[in-house]
Amino acid sequence: MDQDLLKRTAQVIRQAKRCVALTGAGISVESGIPDFRGAGGLWEKYDPREYATIESFLRNPQKVWAMLLEVGSLLAKSRPNQAHLALAKLEELGYLKAIITQNIDNLHQAAGNKRVIEFHGNGQEFICLDCGKKYSRVELNFDILPPRCPCYGLIKPNIVFFGEPIPWTAHEEARSEARKCDVMLVIGTSAVVSPACDLPVMAKLAGATVVEINLEETPLTGRISHWLLKGSASQIMNSLLQEIMA
Ligand code: NAD
Repeated sequence: MDQDLLKRTAQVIRQAKRCVALTGAGISVESGIPDFRGAGGLWEKYDPREYATIESFLRNPQKVWAMLLEVGSLLAKSRPNQAHLALAKLEELGYLKAIITQNIDNLHQAAGNKRVIEFHGNGQEFICLDCGKKYSRVELNFDILPPRCPCYGLIKPNIVFFGEPIPWTAHEEARSEARKCDVMLVIGTSAVVSPACDLPVMAKLAGATVVEINLEETPLTGRISHWLLKGSASQIMNSLLQEIMA
C-alpha cells in the first residue's frame, strides 16, 4: 500500500465538505460474495450475461429463480467486512455524507450506514411485476418456482437486472450527490456498468477529487480518478480510517 497516497487521501477526506463513496461488488468480496470479474464458482456456474438480464428472467423465470435462491442464501450468510465497517465509522464521525452502492447485498446498512443510495435495488425486497406489491423474503413461498402474487403476477427481487432502468429516485439522488461532492471514493467497482460508471465522471467534472480503491486499474484510472489506492478494500479502508483518526 502506498503510504504517501494513503496520507494524501486521509487529508482530502479530513478537509472535505462533502465526501461520498461509490461502491461496487469488490467491497463485498471479502465478505464472501464473489464479484462478476474475479474467478468465483458462482459466476462460473451462472454466467451473468445469461442469468442477470431482464430478458432471461422473463423468458425463463424458473431457471433464474433457482440461481437467485442460491445467491440469496449466500447473501443471508454474509456479514460486513472491515471496509463496510470503516465507511460506517466515517459516516458516524461526520466525514462521509452518503454511499451510492451498486450492490444489492444490504451490507452497508448492516454495518450501520444511514444514508445509502441503492442504485441497483435491494436483494432482500421482492416485487410483483403486475400489481407492484412488495414482499419480504419470509412472506414468500419458494416451493414452486417462480413465486407468484395472489394477482398471479410474476414476483421478482427488487433489483435492477441488466436491461432495466435505474430506480428514478436513486438515480436522481446519486446524480445529485455526484454533482455536490468534493471528494468521491470509488471502491471495488470495475466501472464498466453504465450508468453507475458515469457518476465519478460527473463528480470529476464538478470539481471533486476522485480516489479509487481497487485491486487493479479500471477505465477510470489515469483519466478520471486522481489516484488509485491499490489493494484490498478492507485493508485500505481500515488503514485510511486509522490515518484519519490519528
Ligand atoms: P465488478 O464485479 O464488475 O468488479 C469488481 C471490482 O472490484 C473489480 O474492479 C475488482 O478488481 C475489484 N475488487 C475485487 N475484490 C476486491 C477487493 N477485495 N478490494 C478492492 N477491490 C476489489 O463489480 P461492479 O463494478 O460492482 O459491477 C458489477 C455489477 O454486479 C454491479 O451492478 C453490482 O451491483 C452487481 N453485483 C453485486 C454484488 C453484491 O451485491 N455484492 C455481487 C456481484 C455483482
